[in-house]
Amino acid sequence: MSDLRFDNKVVVITGAGRGLGKAYALFYGSVGAKVLVNDNGCDLDGKNTNPKFADEVVATIKSKGGIAVANYDSVLNGDKIIAHAIKEFGRLDVLINNAGILRDKILAKLTEEDWDIVVKTHLYGTYSVCKAAWPIMRDQGFGRIINTSSGSGLYGTLGQTNYAAAKAGIVGLTLTLAKEGERRNILCNVLVPVGASRMTETIMPPDVLTGIDPNNLTPILAVLTHETNKDYNGGIYECSGGFFSRVRWQRTEGVSLDLPVKISEVQKNWAKINDFGGKNEYPTGNADLFNKVQENLERLEQQ
Ligand code: NAD
Repeated sequence: MSDLRFDNKVVVITGAGRGLGKAYALFYGSVGAKVLVNDNGCDLDGKNTNPKFADEVVATIKSKGGIAVANYDSVLNGDKIIAHAIKEFGRLDVLINNAGILRDKILAKLTEEDWDIVVKTHLYGTYSVCKAAWPIMRDQGFGRIINTSSGSGLYGTLGQTNYAAAKAGIVGLTLTLAKEGERRNILCNVLVPVGASRMTETIMPPDVLTGIDPNNLTPILAVLTHETNKDYNGGIYECSGGFFSRVRWQRTEGVSLDLPVKISEVQKNWAKINDFGGKNEYPTGNADLFNKVQENLERLEQQ
């Protein structure tokens, strides 16, 4: 398969002045896209701002013959970011929500401010830019959105209640948008990356950081956000250091008990309720559970 190009496509990337987003912006800038490089240039904890990071990325893209513009708005103002892209380039094809901050603390030490700013930046920020982009993508019948989660959001990580909650929220938001966008050719997927950046440079050794160069994340973005992707929607992709995989929910075979349910019956079936070694299922929507309820009610009716 030949490499994918994005000529004349307009790509908005948030938090693209540094780290993973910078690698994404340089990639799209190198394959023909017109890139809006959003970054408010804040510190890792969300304090202060600085336009230079977005400016530097734009300058690099331009120096290589690409097309890019810098935007310094916070992702809390998604309407401004998208309006800027439309004013500059006249359209919008791809949105990568990537901006993020950290305020890691165990729950006992977490302040309201630590909770608010992290949840707001990641979850509300992702919502805000999606919300502004949505009508444009809907009306043109094309859009590709990547939202960024984290292993913390999928599995939980000590000291990251705020970050994990926001990142899990982004999964729910994206899976819902995937369902809402399907009919309009707006495909939404979740990226769960690990890459070298200021977020990881203090917790990983140098040789590992070399191995998780964020440039190796760009191929999956290309595949998912290109117009040739027509089917892959609502996926959660874990990617790092050349490893790529898709994550999904798994439900044990479970049990359907007689009503009213007795504590002793739950206790008796506890092993089976928890057993992933049986006939597992991979639910993709609320209907899967309702079907189980329906089946159980029908079973009881026939007793
Ligand atoms: P980074 O700190 O290097 O880059 C994030 C960028 O977002 C910064 O340049 C920052 O200025 C910008 N930003 C922060 N708040 C903003 C706001 N309100 N408006 C606009 N820009 C803002 O971090 P990174 O490691 O490149 O992380 C990128 C994304 O990937 C984040 O969402 C992060 O949570 C996620 N992630 C990263 C890793 C990893 O291994 N680095 C792992 C899992 C998830």
